[in-house]
Amino acid sequence: MFDQTEWVWKDGKMVRWDLATIHVSAHALHYGSGVFEGIRCYVTEEGPAVFRLGAHLRRFSASAEVYGIPIPYSEDELRQAVVECIRINNYTSCYVRPICYYGSDTLGVHPRQCPVEVAILTWPWEAYLGDEGLKTGVRITVSPWLKFDSQMVPTTAKACGQYLNSMLAVRDAVRRGYDEALLLDSDGYIAEGSGENLFIVRDGRLFTNDEQSSILMGVTRDAVIQLAGDMGLEVRIGKLQLGDLLSCDEAFFTGTAAEVTPIRELDGNVIGGGGRGPITLKIQEAFFGATGGRNSRYRKWLDFVAERPVETMV
Ligand code: PMP
Repeated sequence: MFDQTEWVWKDGKMVRWDLATIHVSAHALHYGSGVFEGIRCYVTEEGPAVFRLGAHLRRFSASAEVYGIPIPYSEDELRQAVVECIRINNYTSCYVRPICYYGSDTLGVHPRQCPVEVAILTWPWEAYLGDEGLKTGVRITVSPWLKFDSQMVPTTAKACGQYLNSMLAVRDAVRRGYDEALLLDSDGYIAEGSGENLFIVRDGRLFTNDEQSSILMGVTRDAVIQLAGDMGLEVRIGKLQLGDLLSCDEAFFTGTAAEVTPIRELDGNVIGGGGRGPITLKIQEAFFGATGGRNSRYRKWLDFVAERPVETMV
């Protein structure tokens, strides 16, 4: 996965990939005490461009704030560091993973004086649920693991330890032959995939849930809501039940890694026409039009990776 990653931004400097390490006594390794982001950089006619970098960095700050982790860099410094990472590694497109975590000082659960460390890792990453999944849709299953409730762990934050819940769910799904898991919340409503938000389409309208259903508020979800609105499609936001998914015309997942992936089957039940529906296709086209810089209306969502001199390298 990291064959093409030569440089990693770590605590303000560019370091070689093999030197970008942390100690076994780091607090984050033991307790998952870190927050992170997942961002994509796309090919455009004007070179690589990062999609919705500002929105991702704002969520990064918000996640850190919930956990009381003071990120020692401004949003602007991080924005420049992300762009620099992509440029120095010579990518045309890639995935970007900023992470901020407690390093090594104490292993008491209270992090006390643990240093706050920040890294930005980048690597080329294909479609998360496969190119075929993007075209023909994926098969999913209801997870026996529930999504944790927002009164237990702040679900709108993207924190390292929270992903154990997702890992349990996706492993179980894959072991049983499915592509992805669908987690329900503790009231039995649909929450989300292990790394994606859910949309359903019925009678030409889009439906999705929100933070009331213990979801991470996805940046892609937000982009799709805006794209759909601009296309004149109505989007309704509220709780979703399994019955809504089973009786809908089309369904799809959204996420930075998964992009806009149709869902064709839930536990052996065919969803809609059993493939990529016409509205899902329209949303995909609009989404990739925006990420690829082909629609001037959404250029505001792109940060272009311009040529700049490298200032800090070790
Ligand atoms: N839910 C979860 C649990 C996720 O991990 C992700 C991926 N970050 C999403 C939803 C989708 O969020 P985004 O569109 O911001 O990538």
